[in-house]
Amino acid sequence: MPKDPITQYYHDTFPKQFQDPPGLQKEMDPKPDCGEESYRGAGKLTGRKALVTGGDSGIGRAAAIAYAREGADVAINYLPEEQPDAEEVKELVEAEGRKAILIPGDLKSERFNYKLVEEAVEQLGGLDILALVAGKQQAVEDIADLTTEQLKSTFETNVYPLYWLTKAALPHLPRGSSIITTTSVEGFNPSPMLLDYAATKSTIIGFTKGLAKQIADKGIRVNSVAPGPIWTPLQISGGQLQDNIPEFGSSTPETPIGRAGQPVELASVYVFLASEESSYVTAQVYSITGGVPTA
Ligand code: NAD
Ligand code: MG
Repeated sequence: MPKDPITQYYHDTFPKQFQDPPGLQKEMDPKPDCGEESYRGAGKLTGRKALVTGGDSGIGRAAAIAYAREGADVAINYLPEEQPDAEEVKELVEAEGRKAILIPGDLKSERFNYKLVEEAVEQLGGLDILALVAGKQQAVEDIADLTTEQLKSTFETNVYPLYWLTKAALPHLPRGSSIITTTSVEGFNPSPMLLDYAATKSTIIGFTKGLAKQIADKGIRVNSVAPGPIWTPLQISGGQLQDNIPEFGSSTPETPIGRAGQPVELASVYVFLASEESSYVTAQVYSITGGVPTA
């Protein structure tokens, strides 16, 4: 019997909980499901080499685990304070007999972006999947309280590294490589409290589609994933107002599935977009939103 999507994953209210950003998945209640127990590979990425930003937790961790189980070696980037989450990912990747390279560092630094790619290429012995998942989201109810510091740092985290990492990676990416960015339902239908974040997410859609056209003749495809409400550290470290945490993702009919998604529910799409199975897919945005419209 197929599983019922309404009850397949956690569908109760969430306990209120706050951590300073970026937050640790280890300390969340309930812990996000990134496929640690459930994701099964089928050799779709045998011998591939992936760099996943934000690979310590949430959606990036789900992608990293799935890539390893599909046969890829994986380098992950994250912030130094996320080392405990990153260590767990390393263990999970190595348990598959794949290489796990941990490269902590702040993507807001242009220079670090170049170092990150160089180190990943060197330690993996090449690169053919660039999964750009890192992101920052801080809810602010009133534009009067949105500081220039936050505005800059949201763009510096969510947008600039896509340009820098792509520039650095392109000379290394062979034909058949795949670049995957991470936008959001917010890029289509912004929440009133996410004016800076939502704007970065629409920018990512523009970047993805334009880059796809620019480099199609190199045999490199570029696509984006648009998640809806997914239970991750981003949300409990200021991404949502604390009052909205208990009901996060559960309002219907806005979210027809009626619950928050779990990171593992995005894993197969990050795999698909990286694999040869998506050979005719480029310049696209793939929505995984529990039914929240993105058009
Ligand atoms: P997450 O907190 O698990 O992942 C975000 C990661 O971004 C962090 O783990 C951190 O490693 C990384 N990061 C943040 N600032 C950084 C910096 N300055 N330098 C390096 N790394 C940095 O949360 P998540 O929800 O899995 O987020 C992954 C992506 O999914 C983000 O781009 C987010 O915008 C997007 N997204 C999330 C949701 C959701 O509901 N959770 C919805 C739509 C889009
Ligand atoms: Mg994290």
